[in-house]
This record gives sequence, C-alpha cells and structure tokens, in this order.
Amino acid sequence: MKKLFRTFIDLLYPHRCAICDRTLIKDEYICPFCKPKIKYPSGATCMKCSKPLPDENRLYCHDCSRKRSEYERGFAVFGYEQINESLYRFKYGGRPEYAGFYAASAWERYGRVLESLGIEAYIPVPIHKKRFDKRGYNQAHEFAKCLSKYSGVQVVDDIVIRSKNTAPLKKLGADERQKNLKKAFKLTKNDVNFKKVCIVDDIYTTGATVNTMAGMLKSAGVEKVYFLSVAIR
Ligand SMILES: [Zn+2]
Ligand SMILES: [Zn+2]
Repeated sequence: MKKLFRTFIDLLYPHRCAICDRTLIKDEYICPFCKPKIKYPSGATCMKCSKPLPDENRLYCHDCSRKRSEYERGFAVFGYEQINESLYRFKYGGRPEYAGFYAASAWERYGRVLESLGIEAYIPVPIHKKRFDKRGYNQAHEFAKCLSKYSGVQVVDDIVIRSKNTAPLKKLGADERQKNLKKAFKLTKNDVNFKKVCIVDDIYTTGATVNTMAGMLKSAGVEKVYFLSVAIR
C-alpha cells in the first residue's frame, strides 16, 4: 500500500535535486546549479577505509592505523560535509529517490574497481523493522538497489538482520558501541554461499557497524568483505 502511494506521489511530483531538493524539470538526478559544485574529494585517502587524510604522508587514518579491520577495503563516494544535508533528507525526509544520484556517482567513481573485485552480493546494513515501518524504506537498501542496476550484482538482505532496535550509537562510547552492535545484528544462516560480498551503507563513521557485520559474515564462510558508503566522516 505504502509503495503504491509513493508511486502515485512520484507521478504527481517530478523528482527533486539530490543536493538542493529543487524540483527537477528534466529526468536528471541533480539540477544544473548543483552540478558544478559536486566534486569527489581529492588528495590522500586511507588505504583501508578511504577516509580523507589530513597528512599526505600517511597511509592509514587514525582509526585504521590503530585497529585491525574485518573487511578488506572500503570505498566512500563523498566527504561527509559535502553531502550531509542531502543524506539527512535521504534518510529522514522521505527522499529515497536520492539513491539514484548516489549510485550513479558511486559507479562513476568506483565502478571499474568494484567490478574487478568479483563481488557476488551487495548486503545493505539492515535497519530494525520498527524503524523500517516508520520510514517506509531502508536507505542502505535503496542505495544498493540502484547500484545493482549498474553492476548486475544482486542485493541480498536476508542474511544479516537487525534483531534489536539499538539506542542511537552516537551517545555511546566505543566499547559500549561494539557490545551493543554485536547484539543488534543476527545471522539467519550458519553457512553463506558467497565468497565475496560488499556491505552497503549511507554513512561510514567509526567502522564499528561494518566491522561487526564483516566479522559475522566471515564466521559464516565469506572470504572477503568490502564496503561501499555514500559518505565517510
Ligand atoms: Zn540542486
Ligand atoms: Zn581508515
């Protein structure tokens, strides 16, 4: 029903610019005013998580140089400051269609490298059912779905589920956060048939979520886990 309603709304109102939210006349993702403003971050980035580095001589960011990651390599399309308002509306303002722009950008920036990795499935970071019902969609899943159109890689959302509606992670310290996350996700099977997967999310912050999920997937037989996020902070 919700889906039908949204289709109806989409017919009434054309899509909006994923950056400034202006109504778009043409079938585009962003408006002509925003187009020149959008550039991918340049300069040195962390070899592990792709976070922009303040110091060109370093190879890894603060977090990645201190702890081991469960994933192989991560890719983020934009810097957080660049896109945070857009991402806020994407997540909380009923703008799942922005995923089209994020996926087109992700593919432009990383398509070639993603294809070379032999990824068999995109696994969106799940949200709890309660949150899903309230929002009407999982933003990570929307992003993954649009990516799938470019790569042909399937979206798989039934291997890792959210078993607990966790307190907002921002309020917790690192240890608490990790503990909370372990309980928050659940594997639905002990054996996963994929060898290489890519976790997909909207924002990568400390990596706690991705690392927790990657660890679980590896314990179920996945050999290599990558991640792709719209932004990194
Ligand atoms: Zn715009
Ligand atoms: Zn890093």
